[in-house]
Amino acid sequence: MSKIKMIAVAAAMVLMAGLTACNPGGSASPGGEESITIGIKFDQPGLGLQVGNEYEGFDVEVARYVASELGYSNINFVFSPSPQRENMIMGGQVKLIFATYSITDERKEQVSFAGPYFVAGQDLLVQSDSTITGPQDLEGKKLCSVTGSTSAQKVSDEYPGVQLQNFDSYSKCVDALVNGSIDAVTTDDVILAGYAAQEQYAGKLKVVGAPFSEERYGVGMKKGDTELCNQVNEAIAKMISSGAWAEALDKTVGPSGYTIPEPPAQDSCS
Ligand code: GLU
Repeated sequence: MSKIKMIAVAAAMVLMAGLTACNPGGSASPGGEESITIGIKFDQPGLGLQVGNEYEGFDVEVARYVASELGYSNINFVFSPSPQRENMIMGGQVKLIFATYSITDERKEQVSFAGPYFVAGQDLLVQSDSTITGPQDLEGKKLCSVTGSTSAQKVSDEYPGVQLQNFDSYSKCVDALVNGSIDAVTTDDVILAGYAAQEQYAGKLKVVGAPFSEERYGVGMKKGDTELCNQVNEAIAKMISSGAWAEALDKTVGPSGYTIPEPPAQDSCS
């Protein structure tokens, strides 16, 4: 071996040793990858919100905690709108989804869930002076929700007298509510609280405050990946027991005035 080659080999070894040092155990993530692609919402204040090139909200905080526990040093956040979540998981565009994604038996036919990491309830958002107090008052009224959500499904199943309009995002529903073209918006109370608290809507909107479902937020992943599901559940349990879960909620959801619930126990993965 020439002297130059020997120096090159020695340099490569030093470089590799350096890389291993930043990556204890040699394999950072289950698959040994550095980056993970995670689906979130981009337009839900307090939960998943894009601000310039940054992402903030409770879903984002839980995603960051879990990804770090799994050993990933970098997250590539992508937008996963409600109607596209199952397809994005099945098509392999995302490894995990943290997007106010309720665990349901119907969805479990296509994907698996870790969690829950939060429990919300379906509610209504109305103008501040509205007399609507629950879904029973919506007969003949215009209600906005989002395609592919449990919220839209519940209304069409249980309140057939309501004129349901499905948009592709809740933020568009909220704009329609503010300009008066619809009477109410329905989805999870924690999402609605985030919109109502936005500065541009100050004093204009209120959450009715009578939840009529239980929405258990899960972490979506490929169907049957029990190993990944167990790892995510362990990370969630650690986030809760360490106090990081409550801290993240206080910081993200807290400012909307939403009452922070008790942390949920996670389902077993199967
Ligand atoms: N949590 C409900 C769902 O998963 C409503 C919120 C949403 O669309 O993300 O469908």
